[in-house]
Amino acid sequence: MLRRSKDRKVTNAVSPNGKTPLIANTFGLPSGKAFSCPGATSVCEKICYAGKLEKVYKGVRDVLVDNWNQLKDASQPQMEALIYQMIDEFDKDCDKRNAQKLFRIHWDGDFFNVAYTMAWKNVIKSWPSIQFWVYTRSDFAVPILTGVDNLALYFSTDDDNWQLASNLKTLHDVKLAYLANNFAMGKERMLSITPKSAIPCPENNKKLPLISDKGSACVTCSQCVFARNDILFSASKK
Ligand code: SF4
Repeated sequence: MLRRSKDRKVTNAVSPNGKTPLIANTFGLPSGKAFSCPGATSVCEKICYAGKLEKVYKGVRDVLVDNWNQLKDASQPQMEALIYQMIDEFDKDCDKRNAQKLFRIHWDGDFFNVAYTMAWKNVIKSWPSIQFWVYTRSDFAVPILTGVDNLALYFSTDDDNWQLASNLKTLHDVKLAYLANNFAMGKERMLSITPKSAIPCPENNKKLPLISDKGSACVTCSQCVFARNDILFSASKK
């Protein structure tokens, strides 16, 4: 059985005191080129917050590795069955708490091959009542996942892979999430790729708390949840 994770930034249900996620609405795999991230860039490997967390909390790492061990050698139908069961449990949790059905794929890790990506695509399409969102650096996943109505898809980009991102934008009109050293540099780079300005992530920009009694940052903001705009992230938060 795959295990979901609770994450304060993305949860779709928060305790009344505004501090604790009540529903686990995300899923992770171990990150990095050695595990699930074939598209990892040197920039993201250097500042991968998710990767750092794996080293800190043993319990978190165990969940990620256990998920990975179940999926890495599985066939596509096996992967699909495992993911479907996990999403079915999430759906039931949402019904119990009358929560908005929003699921963030991959708080850590990425689409590691075509069969795994196809398995997710089929599960997402079989749950039209759930809105999914995901960021990926796996370029092969973009044409597979483009055009799925209830999925907000972002290609994650930075100084290392921005030309690839630019091509994917032209070919598939995929939304981009740009990680820069600072917001000004990111804005400039994004304007060289696409004429429409990208939005600085308000949580990363310190304009929105990670979690509050109004909800998690991502559910309150909802830009990425529904792929409303290209987004900028800054490693320095400036
Ligand atoms: S832009 Fe909004 S939805 Fe996207 S990561 Fe930031 S807070 Fe979350």
